[in-house]
Amino acid sequence: MASQQQIDIVMIPMMAHGHLIPFLALAKQIHHRTGFTIAIVNTPLNIQYLRSALHKDPTPGITLAELPFNSADHGLPPNTESTENLPLDLIGNFFASSVSLKAPFHNFMLDILQKQTKRPLCIISDVFFGWTVDVAKILGILNYSFTTGGAYGTLAYVSLWLNLPHRQTDSEEFSLPGFPQRCRFHVSHLHRFLRNADGTDIWSRFFQPQISSSLQSSGWLCNTAEEIEPFGLDLLRKYIKLPVWTIGPILPKPLLTKSSTNPSNGLLYKQHAGKEPGISPEKCLQWLDLQGTDSVLYISFGSQNTISASHMIELAFGLEESGNPFIWVIRPPIGFDMKAEFRAEWLPEGFEERMSESKQGLLVKNWAPQLEILSHESTGAFLSHCGWNSTLESLSQGVRMIGWPMAAEQGYNSKMLVEEMGVAVELTRGLQSSISREQVKKVIQMVMDKQGKGGDMKKKAQEIAKHIRAAVREEGKEKGSSIQALDDFISTIIRKNEEL
Ligand code: UDP
Repeated sequence: MASQQQIDIVMIPMMAHGHLIPFLALAKQIHHRTGFTIAIVNTPLNIQYLRSALHKDPTPGITLAELPFNSADHGLPPNTESTENLPLDLIGNFFASSVSLKAPFHNFMLDILQKQTKRPLCIISDVFFGWTVDVAKILGILNYSFTTGGAYGTLAYVSLWLNLPHRQTDSEEFSLPGFPQRCRFHVSHLHRFLRNADGTDIWSRFFQPQISSSLQSSGWLCNTAEEIEPFGLDLLRKYIKLPVWTIGPILPKPLLTKSSTNPSNGLLYKQHAGKEPGISPEKCLQWLDLQGTDSVLYISFGSQNTISASHMIELAFGLEESGNPFIWVIRPPIGFDMKAEFRAEWLPEGFEERMSESKQGLLVKNWAPQLEILSHESTGAFLSHCGWNSTLESLSQGVRMIGWPMAAEQGYNSKMLVEEMGVAVELTRGLQSSISREQVKKVIQMVMDKQGKGGDMKKKAQEIAKHIRAAVREEGKEKGSSIQALDDFISTIIRKNEEL
């Protein structure tokens, strides 16, 4: 199972593309700064996914190792190794099934220890895989947890699952342990699984012990930077009482070097292995080239979400009535197979034709070259579900946002973007909420208005973009804070191993 190479660090992400990719990026970054060999361990299909990502951008110091996993043993469809395309009612089983990796992971680590003269410096595990802390303790290896989210969103997620404060009040609004009184949360911020959780459901039975165990690790790594989330980081550190190293934001390198003065230093799209765009990046760029600076609204709900049929109709009318240029990643609405052929009836009659004739809007089916779009100077705002990757990608380009959070920690990200950073307004929240075309039009016009609130939001987003670039700066006299944090983390694990 283990390779003959000396493994310095073992990493184990949650089985979801949104976790695998930041783990791979972190592994590359550590290898790049230290020359360490890193093994990333996961289930066979996820290793296959990582192998194809690595094939496109080989890094010799990274090895991949499979752990046996049979989804059918957990009441899941055959070959289910990620949440993608999984019916909502089975996602709880999927999370629960990940704990079955504990025994094979333990064997994998034993195998490494037998073959190597030096033990690995540490295990870096997903914050959702608290069970690795037990394995690490038994084997006398250090364990650190990596949260692929930001500090504010992670803390809200952690505290909500551990405390379930909304279950202790009749009010729809409540305060959350770890946050000051002024940061009131609302039940509409919570995904339906969390809203209904009572400590005995499948979700609580997974998250509560996993997060509690991750709080027993030696420290957390967080995909953010000190300068962009000072408030969230302060709260997170006080709450978890562990060292937190801010090693992010983890973003594709070209996104951080590409600028509007040098817009064509290579296409970024290759970073997204395994997804076929509904339009070529070149065509998308050609369309954007025809638009005015800071004029286009980009609309996308991440890799897994879609909206309801009625949302689609109201959004389409609102967009058209706003008169604002836009690119919209359209997918079959909720209730239809995500891979289904797109039907004209999902949009207002004649909408596609009108948008194409007037050139007001570009409709992209299923998947768009998001990084190309966000880094183009014509893009001014992003209507997003506020997934953490989309958020960082948008802010790194100084693009203000319109939030429409749907699941996971997106509601807390959106809350932070609006209340703490001032770079977003929320259009609506959740999948059950209703929206009207008038509301869509009003929000778009307010955000795109360069003089009023939209202009302020843009200035703030541009400030954050500067902070992001500074935080990850490797060259020059001053090392960025996130590079420094990674170096500090490495020195810490080396020193702690010497003391063991
Ligand atoms: N993405 C993309 N094209 C799309 C939709 C999404 O390239 O049409 C990428 C996007 O750039 C981001 C990721 O998919 O890197 C979505 O991650 P995020 O954390 O925002 O949301 P999730 O998919 O995990 O809900």
